[in-house]
Amino acid sequence: MNPGITLALSKGRIFEETLPLLAAAGIVPDENPEQSRKLIIGTNRPDVRLVIVRATDTPTYVQYGAADLGIAGKDVLLEHGGAGLYQPLDLNIAKCRLCVAAPKGFDYEAAIQRGARIRVATKYIKTAREHFAAKGVHVDLIKLYGSMELAPLVELADAIVDLVSTGGTLRANNLVEVEDIMPISSRLVVNQAALKVKRELLQPILDAFAGAIK
Ligand code: ATP
Ligand code: MG
Repeated sequence: MNPGITLALSKGRIFEETLPLLAAAGIVPDENPEQSRKLIIGTNRPDVRLVIVRATDTPTYVQYGAADLGIAGKDVLLEHGGAGLYQPLDLNIAKCRLCVAAPKGFDYEAAIQRGARIRVATKYIKTAREHFAAKGVHVDLIKLYGSMELAPLVELADAIVDLVSTGGTLRANNLVEVEDIMPISSRLVVNQAALKVKRELLQPILDAFAGAIK
């Protein structure tokens, strides 16, 4: 086990919105991963480094202890399942919501009222399955890895389960939100063993993050 602290972050909005939390903990990254190709980024603190990972991979790095802690969306954590992860804080960053969306012409309510089987494309298979099962809606789920909005436009699916913040992408593709599933924000996740072994290093960082949450 690396004696210092390794924090897993994804590029983009999570990295940007984590910077103020890191600053509150006295941590300043040496480089911006958007400009650098480095996957391991040092900080002003010799005992703290960042690893830059794909958003969906963050829980996996932390689960196996390759990173001591990380920041991941609730959407990603639900799909991962959370095994081996301690989730002490909702950081209230990267906020959006998970919803069902469909083309303007598709009467979603009527379809589920009459018990129709609907085809739903999503990258959130597990969460979508649980959502529709709880409602008693019959669905065929189609796994996609990106641009879910395209699927209903080319008749791959009747509807999608996807994240929405402003709704701009839905509007641009003639889709409307037909059901809200849950609000999403990013959480701090900590490796359970690291929390015990590295408590002295980790606790001040957790406390600083907790104090800086908006
Ligand atoms: P990529 O977009 O490169 O395929 P990704 O979708 O995995 O990768 P991001 O788009 O950076 O990565 O999303 C990372 C996390 O940010 C998501 O897991 C989610 O929690 C949150 N997120 C995604 N889209 C939005 C959004 N439109 N507004 C706010 N937060 C979002
Ligand atoms: Mg994305």
